[in-house]
Amino acid sequence: MKILPADPRATYLAAQAEIDAAIKRVLLSGHYILGPELDAFEKEFSAWFGTAGTVGVGNGTDAIELALLAAGIGPGDKVVTVANTVTATVAAIVATGAKPVFVDVEPGTMLLDVAALEAMLAKLRDPKIKAVVPVHLYGLAADMPRLMEVAVRHNLFVMEDCAQAHGSLVGGKKAGTWGQLASFSFYPTKNLGALGDAGAVTGRDAALLEKVRLLRQYGWRKRYVSDLHGRNSRLDELQAAILRVRLTRLDAENQRRGEIAKLYLAALKGAPLALPLVPEGRTHTWHQFVVRTPKRDELRAHLEKKDIFCGVLYPMPIHRQPAYHDASLALPQTEQACAEVLSLPLHPGLSNDDLARVTAGVKQFFA
Ligand SMILES: *Cc1c(COP(=O)(O)O)cnc(C)c1O
Repeated sequence: MKILPADPRATYLAAQAEIDAAIKRVLLSGHYILGPELDAFEKEFSAWFGTAGTVGVGNGTDAIELALLAAGIGPGDKVVTVANTVTATVAAIVATGAKPVFVDVEPGTMLLDVAALEAMLAKLRDPKIKAVVPVHLYGLAADMPRLMEVAVRHNLFVMEDCAQAHGSLVGGKKAGTWGQLASFSFYPTKNLGALGDAGAVTGRDAALLEKVRLLRQYGWRKRYVSDLHGRNSRLDELQAAILRVRLTRLDAENQRRGEIAKLYLAALKGAPLALPLVPEGRTHTWHQFVVRTPKRDELRAHLEKKDIFCGVLYPMPIHRQPAYHDASLALPQTEQACAEVLSLPLHPGLSNDDLARVTAGVKQFFA
Protein backbone atom coordinates (compact mmCIF):
# COMPACT_ATOMS: atom_id res chain seq x y z
CA MET A 1 0.00 0.00 0.00
CA LYS A 2 1.34 3.37 -1.06
CA ILE A 3 1.70 6.10 1.55
CA LEU A 4 1.24 9.48 -0.11
CA PRO A 5 2.47 12.90 1.08
CA ALA A 6 -1.10 14.21 0.85
CA ASP A 7 -4.30 12.46 -0.16
CA PRO A 8 -7.18 14.71 -1.28
CA ARG A 9 -9.17 11.66 -2.39
CA ALA A 10 -9.08 10.26 1.15
CA THR A 11 -10.23 13.64 2.47
CA TYR A 12 -13.15 13.55 0.03
CA LEU A 13 -14.07 9.98 0.96
CA ALA A 14 -14.07 10.91 4.66
CA ALA A 15 -17.02 13.24 3.97
CA GLN A 16 -18.34 11.64 0.79
CA ALA A 17 -22.07 11.53 1.58
CA GLU A 18 -22.13 15.16 2.76
CA ILE A 19 -20.07 16.42 -0.18
CA ASP A 20 -22.14 14.49 -2.71
CA ALA A 21 -25.32 15.96 -1.21
CA ALA A 22 -23.83 19.47 -1.33
CA ILE A 23 -22.87 19.04 -5.00
CA LYS A 24 -26.34 17.75 -5.87
CA ARG A 25 -27.91 20.71 -4.05
CA VAL A 26 -25.91 23.16 -6.17
CA LEU A 27 -26.54 21.29 -9.42
CA LEU A 28 -30.28 21.38 -8.83
CA SER A 29 -30.30 25.01 -7.67
CA GLY A 30 -29.55 26.43 -11.10
CA HIS A 31 -27.25 28.97 -9.42
CA TYR A 32 -23.58 28.32 -10.17
CA ILE A 33 -21.68 31.60 -9.70
CA LEU A 34 -21.92 34.13 -6.82
CA GLY A 35 -24.94 32.62 -5.10
CA PRO A 36 -26.12 31.48 -1.68
CA GLU A 37 -23.39 28.86 -1.16
CA LEU A 38 -20.59 31.40 -1.50
CA ASP A 39 -22.46 33.89 0.71
CA ALA A 40 -22.81 31.20 3.36
CA PHE A 41 -19.21 30.00 3.03
CA GLU A 42 -17.88 33.55 3.34
CA LYS A 43 -19.90 34.07 6.53
CA GLU A 44 -18.94 30.69 7.97
CA PHE A 45 -15.26 31.16 7.18
CA SER A 46 -15.29 34.65 8.73
CA ALA A 47 -16.95 33.25 11.86
CA TRP A 48 -14.38 30.45 12.08
CA PHE A 49 -11.52 32.87 11.38
CA GLY A 50 -12.75 35.68 13.59
CA THR A 51 -12.79 38.56 11.10
CA ALA A 52 -15.51 40.81 9.80
CA GLY A 53 -15.38 39.59 6.24
CA THR A 54 -14.11 37.10 3.69
CA VAL A 55 -14.12 37.43 -0.08
CA GLY A 56 -14.01 34.16 -2.03
CA VAL A 57 -11.85 34.28 -5.16
CA GLY A 58 -10.66 31.90 -7.86
CA ASN A 59 -7.49 30.60 -6.15
CA GLY A 60 -4.78 31.46 -3.65
CA THR A 61 -2.60 33.24 -6.19
CA ASP A 62 -5.41 35.60 -7.19
CA ALA A 63 -6.10 36.17 -3.49
CA ILE A 64 -2.58 37.56 -3.01
CA GLU A 65 -2.73 39.65 -6.16
CA LEU A 66 -6.18 41.14 -5.46
CA ALA A 67 -5.28 41.90 -1.84
CA LEU A 68 -2.17 43.80 -2.96
CA LEU A 69 -4.09 45.60 -5.72
CA ALA A 70 -6.76 46.64 -3.20
CA ALA A 71 -4.01 48.19 -1.08
CA GLY A 72 -2.89 50.22 -4.09
CA ILE A 73 0.27 48.22 -4.81
CA GLY A 74 1.25 48.42 -8.47
CA PRO A 75 3.91 49.35 -11.02
CA GLY A 76 6.90 51.14 -9.48
CA ASP A 77 6.32 49.58 -6.03
CA LYS A 78 8.39 46.89 -4.36
CA VAL A 79 7.07 44.10 -2.16
CA VAL A 80 9.24 42.11 0.24
CA THR A 81 8.75 38.37 0.59
CA VAL A 82 10.72 35.15 0.98
CA ALA A 83 12.20 32.93 -1.76
CA ASN A 84 11.36 29.54 -0.17
CA THR A 85 7.72 29.61 -1.18
CA VAL A 86 5.61 28.34 -4.03
CA THR A 87 6.05 30.47 -7.17
CA ALA A 88 2.45 31.65 -6.66
CA THR A 89 3.43 34.15 -3.95
CA VAL A 90 5.93 35.86 -6.22
CA ALA A 91 3.88 35.48 -9.42
CA ALA A 92 1.05 37.34 -7.67
CA ILE A 93 3.36 40.20 -6.67
CA VAL A 94 4.68 40.43 -10.23
CA ALA A 95 1.12 40.36 -11.61
CA THR A 96 0.33 43.60 -9.76
CA GLY A 97 3.19 45.28 -11.63
CA ALA A 98 5.30 45.53 -8.46
CA LYS A 99 8.79 44.08 -8.08
CA PRO A 100 9.49 41.33 -5.53
CA VAL A 101 12.37 41.87 -3.10
CA PHE A 102 13.61 38.77 -1.29
CA VAL A 103 14.66 38.55 2.31
CA ASP A 104 16.34 35.54 3.91
CA VAL A 105 14.70 33.22 6.42
CA GLU A 106 15.58 32.16 9.97
CA PRO A 107 17.72 29.01 10.04
CA GLY A 108 15.50 27.18 12.54
CA THR A 109 11.91 27.88 11.47
CA MET A 110 12.75 28.66 7.80
CA LEU A 111 10.32 31.59 8.07
CA LEU A 112 10.87 35.27 7.19
CA ASP A 113 13.74 36.60 9.29
CA VAL A 114 12.45 39.83 10.81
CA ALA A 115 15.94 40.97 11.84
CA ALA A 116 17.13 40.47 8.25
CA LEU A 117 14.10 42.44 7.03
CA GLU A 118 14.87 45.30 9.36
CA ALA A 119 18.55 45.31 8.32
CA MET A 120 17.55 45.32 4.65
CA LEU A 121 15.11 48.21 5.09
CA ALA A 122 17.79 50.21 6.92
CA LYS A 123 20.36 49.49 4.23
CA LEU A 124 18.18 50.12 1.18
CA ARG A 125 16.17 53.07 2.54
CA ASP A 126 13.99 52.57 -0.52
CA PRO A 127 10.65 54.42 -0.43
CA LYS A 128 9.40 52.15 -3.21
CA ILE A 129 9.17 49.27 -0.72
CA LYS A 130 5.49 49.47 0.16
CA ALA A 131 4.49 46.06 1.46
CA VAL A 132 5.65 42.81 2.96
CA VAL A 133 4.15 39.37 2.33
CA PRO A 134 5.16 36.93 5.07
CA VAL A 135 4.53 33.30 4.11
CA HIS A 136 3.36 31.12 6.99
CA LEU A 137 5.07 28.03 5.67
CA TYR A 138 4.23 24.39 6.49
CA GLY A 139 1.58 25.39 9.06
CA LEU A 140 3.74 27.63 11.24
CA ALA A 141 3.27 31.39 11.28
CA ALA A 142 6.13 33.87 11.06
CA ASP A 143 7.03 36.02 14.05
CA MET A 144 4.09 38.40 13.52
CA PRO A 145 4.38 40.51 16.71
CA ARG A 146 7.94 41.52 15.74
CA LEU A 147 7.13 41.80 12.05
CA MET A 148 4.15 44.11 12.71
CA GLU A 149 6.30 46.29 14.91
CA VAL A 150 8.82 46.73 12.06
CA ALA A 151 6.05 47.17 9.46
CA VAL A 152 4.33 49.90 11.47
CA ARG A 153 7.63 51.72 11.98
CA HIS A 154 8.38 51.59 8.23
CA ASN A 155 4.80 52.17 7.12
CA LEU A 156 4.56 48.89 5.23
CA PHE A 157 1.32 47.19 4.22
CA VAL A 158 1.24 43.61 5.52
CA MET A 159 -0.48 40.87 3.52
CA GLU A 160 -0.12 37.45 5.15
CA ASP A 161 0.08 34.44 2.83
CA CYS A 162 -1.92 31.90 4.86
CA ALA A 163 -2.20 29.22 2.16
CA GLN A 164 -0.47 26.73 4.48
CA ALA A 165 -1.69 28.04 7.83
CA HIS A 166 -5.45 27.52 8.21
CA GLY A 167 -5.89 28.00 11.95
CA SER A 168 -2.27 28.50 13.03
CA LEU A 169 -1.89 30.79 16.04
CA VAL A 170 0.71 33.37 17.04
CA GLY A 171 0.40 34.88 20.50
CA GLY A 172 -3.11 33.40 20.75
CA LYS A 173 -4.25 35.16 17.54
CA LYS A 174 -4.88 33.45 14.22
CA ALA A 175 -2.25 33.88 11.54
CA GLY A 176 -3.87 36.24 9.05
CA THR A 177 -5.36 38.57 11.66
CA TRP A 178 -2.10 40.46 12.29
CA GLY A 179 -1.60 42.23 8.99
CA GLN A 180 -4.19 44.34 7.18
CA LEU A 181 -5.20 41.51 4.84
CA ALA A 182 -4.58 37.80 4.49
CA SER A 183 -4.84 35.38 1.58
CA PHE A 184 -5.89 31.73 1.69
CA SER A 185 -5.70 28.98 -0.89
CA PHE A 186 -8.15 26.09 -0.87
CA TYR A 187 -6.16 23.99 -3.34
CA PRO A 188 -7.20 20.35 -2.76
CA THR A 189 -4.15 19.37 -0.67
CA LYS A 190 -4.28 22.36 1.73
CA ASN A 191 -5.57 21.84 5.28
CA LEU A 192 -8.88 23.26 4.04
CA GLY A 193 -9.16 22.07 0.46
CA ALA A 194 -11.82 22.28 -2.22
CA LEU A 195 -12.10 19.72 -5.05
CA GLY A 196 -10.78 22.19 -7.59
CA ASP A 197 -9.33 25.70 -7.43
CA ALA A 198 -10.50 28.18 -4.80
CA GLY A 199 -9.11 30.92 -2.58
CA ALA A 200 -10.12 33.80 -0.34
CA VAL A 201 -9.02 37.16 0.96
CA THR A 202 -9.83 38.01 4.54
CA GLY A 203 -8.36 40.18 7.28
CA ARG A 204 -9.14 43.04 9.59
CA ASP A 205 -9.38 45.90 7.06
CA ALA A 206 -13.08 45.92 6.05
CA ALA A 207 -12.72 48.79 3.55
CA LEU A 208 -9.95 46.98 1.66
CA LEU A 209 -11.98 43.76 1.69
CA GLU A 210 -14.83 45.62 0.06
CA LYS A 211 -12.42 46.72 -2.65
CA VAL A 212 -11.34 43.11 -3.19
CA ARG A 213 -15.03 42.21 -3.56
CA LEU A 214 -15.28 44.68 -6.45
CA LEU A 215 -11.97 43.64 -8.01
CA ARG A 216 -12.99 39.98 -8.21
CA GLN A 217 -15.76 40.83 -10.66
CA TYR A 218 -14.80 43.51 -13.19
CA GLY A 219 -14.78 46.25 -10.55
CA TRP A 220 -18.57 46.14 -10.35
CA ARG A 221 -20.30 47.59 -7.32
CA LYS A 222 -23.51 47.57 -9.30
CA ARG A 223 -24.05 45.09 -12.11
CA TYR A 224 -22.69 46.38 -15.45
CA VAL A 225 -21.10 49.45 -13.84
CA SER A 226 -17.37 49.20 -13.16
CA ASP A 227 -16.04 51.48 -10.41
CA LEU A 228 -12.56 49.94 -10.57
CA HIS A 229 -10.32 48.13 -13.05
CA GLY A 230 -11.26 44.70 -11.80
CA ARG A 231 -11.16 41.30 -13.40
CA ASN A 232 -12.78 37.90 -13.04
CA SER A 233 -11.74 35.75 -10.10
CA ARG A 234 -14.78 34.17 -8.49
CA LEU A 235 -15.11 31.18 -6.17
CA ASP A 236 -17.88 29.10 -7.76
CA GLU A 237 -20.92 27.67 -6.00
CA LEU A 238 -19.85 24.02 -6.28
CA GLN A 239 -16.51 24.68 -4.61
CA ALA A 240 -18.15 26.91 -2.00
CA ALA A 241 -20.64 24.17 -1.11
CA ILE A 242 -17.81 21.61 -0.84
CA LEU A 243 -15.77 23.99 1.30
CA ARG A 244 -18.72 24.47 3.67
CA VAL A 245 -18.66 20.73 4.37
CA ARG A 246 -14.87 20.65 4.69
CA LEU A 247 -14.82 23.67 7.03
CA THR A 248 -16.94 21.81 9.61
CA ARG A 249 -14.12 19.23 9.82
CA LEU A 250 -11.13 21.55 9.73
CA ASP A 251 -10.49 21.86 13.47
CA ALA A 252 -10.77 18.08 13.98
CA GLU A 253 -8.51 17.41 11.00
CA ASN A 254 -5.96 19.93 12.27
CA GLN A 255 -6.09 18.11 15.61
CA ARG A 256 -5.38 14.78 13.90
CA ARG A 257 -2.49 16.42 12.04
CA GLY A 258 -1.18 17.52 15.46
CA GLU A 259 -1.38 13.95 16.78
CA ILE A 260 0.49 12.66 13.74
CA ALA A 261 3.21 15.28 14.20
CA LYS A 262 3.52 14.34 17.88
CA LEU A 263 3.97 10.67 16.98
CA TYR A 264 6.59 11.56 14.35
CA LEU A 265 8.45 13.82 16.79
CA ALA A 266 8.52 11.12 19.47
CA ALA A 267 9.51 8.31 17.11
CA LEU A 268 12.26 10.29 15.37
CA LYS A 269 13.77 11.86 18.48
CA GLY A 270 17.50 11.19 18.38
CA ALA A 271 17.58 10.35 14.67
CA PRO A 272 20.35 12.25 12.81
CA LEU A 273 18.08 14.77 11.13
CA ALA A 274 16.66 18.16 12.09
CA LEU A 275 13.07 17.94 13.29
CA PRO A 276 10.55 20.81 12.96
CA LEU A 277 10.65 23.51 15.63
CA VAL A 278 7.65 25.19 17.20
CA PRO A 279 8.69 28.44 18.88
CA GLU A 280 7.10 29.45 22.18
CA GLY A 281 3.74 31.17 21.69
CA ARG A 282 2.90 29.62 18.32
CA THR A 283 0.73 26.66 17.37
CA HIS A 284 1.56 24.61 14.30
CA THR A 285 -1.22 23.25 12.05
CA TRP A 286 1.13 20.76 10.34
CA HIS A 287 0.33 21.33 6.70
CA GLN A 288 3.74 19.70 6.23
CA PHE A 289 6.01 17.79 8.59
CA VAL A 290 9.41 18.93 7.37
CA VAL A 291 12.66 17.29 8.41
CA ARG A 292 16.09 18.42 7.27
CA THR A 293 19.14 16.42 6.26
CA PRO A 294 21.97 16.94 3.77
CA LYS A 295 21.12 13.37 2.62
CA ARG A 296 17.61 14.46 1.62
CA ASP A 297 17.60 12.97 -1.89
CA GLU A 298 19.00 9.62 -0.70
CA LEU A 299 16.49 9.41 2.14
CA ARG A 300 13.66 10.23 -0.23
CA ALA A 301 14.76 7.51 -2.69
CA HIS A 302 15.12 4.98 0.15
CA LEU A 303 11.54 5.65 1.29
CA GLU A 304 10.18 5.50 -2.25
CA LYS A 305 11.49 1.96 -2.58
CA LYS A 306 9.21 1.16 0.33
CA ASP A 307 6.21 2.84 -1.34
CA ILE A 308 6.47 5.85 0.97
CA PHE A 309 6.29 9.10 -0.99
CA CYS A 310 7.57 12.38 0.39
CA GLY A 311 7.31 15.95 -0.84
CA VAL A 312 9.98 18.62 -1.20
CA LEU A 313 8.70 22.16 -0.54
CA TYR A 314 10.59 23.68 -2.26
CA PRO A 315 13.52 22.21 -4.20
CA MET A 316 14.57 25.51 -5.85
CA PRO A 317 14.32 28.97 -4.31
CA ILE A 318 12.51 31.52 -6.47
CA HIS A 319 15.64 33.60 -7.15
CA ARG A 320 17.31 30.52 -8.71
CA GLN A 321 14.42 29.70 -11.08
CA PRO A 322 14.78 30.79 -14.72
CA ALA A 323 11.86 33.24 -14.76
CA TYR A 324 13.01 35.06 -11.62
CA HIS A 325 16.75 34.43 -11.73
CA ASP A 326 18.97 36.87 -9.87
CA ALA A 327 22.60 35.77 -9.89
CA SER A 328 23.64 38.70 -7.70
CA LEU A 329 21.37 37.67 -4.85
CA ALA A 330 22.55 35.32 -2.10
CA LEU A 331 20.11 34.04 0.51
CA PRO A 332 22.22 31.43 2.32
CA GLN A 333 19.60 30.18 4.78
CA THR A 334 16.95 29.91 2.08
CA GLU A 335 19.28 28.08 -0.29
CA GLN A 336 20.39 25.62 2.39
CA ALA A 337 16.79 24.95 3.43
CA CYS A 338 15.77 24.18 -0.15
CA ALA A 339 18.65 21.68 -0.42
CA GLU A 340 17.75 19.84 2.79
CA VAL A 341 13.98 19.86 3.37
CA LEU A 342 11.84 16.75 3.10
CA SER A 343 8.13 16.56 3.91
CA LEU A 344 7.19 13.24 5.49
CA PRO A 345 3.69 12.05 4.56
CA LEU A 346 1.11 13.90 6.63
CA HIS A 347 -2.62 14.02 6.06
CA PRO A 348 -5.59 13.20 8.29
CA GLY A 349 -6.19 9.89 6.49
CA LEU A 350 -2.92 8.29 7.70
CA SER A 351 -3.24 5.48 10.24
CA ASN A 352 -0.83 4.92 13.12
CA ASP A 353 0.40 1.83 11.24
CA ASP A 354 1.25 4.05 8.25
CA LEU A 355 3.23 6.34 10.55
CA ALA A 356 5.09 3.38 12.04
CA ARG A 357 6.07 2.32 8.52
CA VAL A 358 7.37 5.83 7.75
CA THR A 359 9.42 6.17 10.93
CA ALA A 360 10.80 2.63 10.58
CA GLY A 361 11.86 3.50 7.02
CA VAL A 362 13.61 6.67 8.17
CA LYS A 363 15.42 4.92 11.02
CA GLN A 364 16.50 2.07 8.76
CA PHE A 365 18.03 4.58 6.33
CA PHE A 366 20.20 6.06 9.07
CA ALA A 367 21.04 2.71 10.75
C1 LIG B 1 -0.79 26.89 -2.43
C2 LIG B 1 -0.10 28.15 -2.16
C3 LIG B 1 -0.37 29.34 -2.87
C4 LIG B 1 -1.19 29.37 -4.12
O1 LIG B 1 -2.44 28.92 -4.05
P1 LIG B 1 -3.21 28.47 -5.41
O2 LIG B 1 -4.59 28.23 -4.87
O3 LIG B 1 -2.54 27.23 -5.90
O4 LIG B 1 -3.15 29.59 -6.36
C5 LIG B 1 0.24 30.51 -2.47
N1 LIG B 1 1.10 30.53 -1.45
C6 LIG B 1 1.43 29.41 -0.76
C7 LIG B 1 2.39 29.52 0.36
C8 LIG B 1 0.86 28.18 -1.10
O5 LIG B 1 1.20 27.10 -0.41
